[in-house]
Amino acid sequence: MSDKIRVRYAPSPTGLLHIGNARTALFNYLFARHYNGTFVIRIEDTDRERHVEDGERSQLENLRWLGMDWDESPETHENYRQSERLPLYQKYIDQLLAEKKAYYSYKTPEELEADHVKQEAAGIAPHYINEYQGMTESEIEAYVNARKAAGITPVVRIKVSETSTYSWQDIVKGEISFEGSKIGGDYVIQKRDGYPTYNFAVVVDDHDMQISHVIRGDDHIANTPKQLVVYEALGWKAPQFGHMTLIINSQTGKKLSKRDTNTLQFIEDYRKKGYLPEAVFNFIAFLGWNPGGNEEIFSREELIQLFDENRLSKAPAAFDQKKMDWMDNE
Ligand code: GLU
Repeated sequence: MSDKIRVRYAPSPTGLLHIGNARTALFNYLFARHYNGTFVIRIEDTDRERHVEDGERSQLENLRWLGMDWDESPETHENYRQSERLPLYQKYIDQLLAEKKAYYSYKTPEELEADHVKQEAAGIAPHYINEYQGMTESEIEAYVNARKAAGITPVVRIKVSETSTYSWQDIVKGEISFEGSKIGGDYVIQKRDGYPTYNFAVVVDDHDMQISHVIRGDDHIANTPKQLVVYEALGWKAPQFGHMTLIINSQTGKKLSKRDTNTLQFIEDYRKKGYLPEAVFNFIAFLGWNPGGNEEIFSREELIQLFDENRLSKAPAAFDQKKMDWMDNE
């Protein structure tokens, strides 16, 4: 593996650090430390509605409690929060608009919703249809002027090629391919409030921060082709992606949810109940990864040494609270 490994954990400060978030952070940390790479923390705070006061501080504090450290973060580096990076996003949005790879879209949420209802009734997956389709230059001008006069603020959409295929070699799951026609049409990269969408900002940031590997949960798989659209439009090389399997409750076999009251979900809970951070770290490291062999108790240093991204599991990771308790008592 090349020595320019740069990975990131990019939390959204929308609540407390959950076991799933901690696992993503931990694998990025192990990956960086194993290869003498750089571990970056970036705060993804463009969703103003879900923003939680103190979310950033408490999440970082919980990562530290688990024994992780990092090389670059908003604590030491300027503009490592997305809300501080708006001019950078604007620069690339302007570029895409000038190159006609993106455009202003004036359809209102109500109109979009009405389209989706019709599409669903016709048995088609909801998608955006280019509102300028079939219009002449002068019709476009009249349409835009009327919308502006009605006080409608536009969003910016990026053009998606329906005939392209977006593929990548996933570190965990192997080859993954998406048809452009399944993306849902030209999608929004800048919202009405002027903030970029996640799928746009994440690409600008991963490129700008020279991230070599993106390791995240497989709930992001459907976002990856959208992000590849942006990489292609801006002429950038995409990083390598690895999507970790979801965490399931070992008893029910279902996706771990906040309603599983017999399991502890937040790192804060383990702290309050007096668990040892080393045990929690060890437990999380085994959610969807194992070094082979039967041994299950390792120190942080041993885990760093043993880490091998090829051993990230393709099967869902089973969360078993009893095992956690056993590790804590060893
Ligand atoms: N802020 C995103 C999240 O919390 C990060 C996604 C990513 O790693 O690309 O899910």
